[in-house]
Amino acid sequence: MARNRVYSEWEIKKLLVEIGRRVWARGYVAANDGNFSVRLSENRILTTPTGVSKGFMSTEMIVKVDAQGKVIEGSHRYKPSSELPMHLEVYRQRPDVQAVVHAHPPYATSFAVAGIPLDRCVLPEAVLTLGAVPVAPFALPSTEEVPLSIRELIRETDVILLENHGALTVGPDLQSAYFKMETLEHAAHIIWNALQLGKVNELSAENRDRLFDLREKFNIQGKILSCKK
Ligand SMILES: [Zn+2]
Repeated sequence: MARNRVYSEWEIKKLLVEIGRRVWARGYVAANDGNFSVRLSENRILTTPTGVSKGFMSTEMIVKVDAQGKVIEGSHRYKPSSELPMHLEVYRQRPDVQAVVHAHPPYATSFAVAGIPLDRCVLPEAVLTLGAVPVAPFALPSTEEVPLSIRELIRETDVILLENHGALTVGPDLQSAYFKMETLEHAAHIIWNALQLGKVNELSAENRDRLFDLREKFNIQGKILSCKK
């Protein structure tokens, strides 16, 4: 998908359906879990429906809401997720963000369950894309605790583990937010494997600095927390 092109609402709905298929097929969610959204303009957001497997969505299930979460367009049969307030909080805190992906990928979520942040510089691609991934404190799903739990962290980073729950990734478009979820789960899986081998070598200080220079050189967008220790 090319960057810097303006996508029609229809194309974005199709992409929400496609990303749902991938998230489900890769086992990042079970049953009807997970939710994604795309901000079309200041007061128009497209989001996935509640009570539907994200692997089996169709475009007519996508719901349009305003910045307060009120449904402004969509079939009356489909309602937005109870986690929508978390998405709305992201959009309030981050004018640069136009898409939000929330899922429960098993390896990343295992770290979230253990309360262990992925905050070391280990894998170059993960350092460049994700930086250090923090864990937001546990919040009861569907309550106002959830947006509050991410409010501070989301100002600083595009990727957050949600304690005993899952993960949240954001970006300037849906594909980039989704790819951050893939990179997060891939990195968590590899680090988990390395932990079984008994050793996780961190990058040297020199290589960390060189990587952060590359990030600037390639003009990689998005917010990351430093994994430099
Ligand atoms: Zn969830």
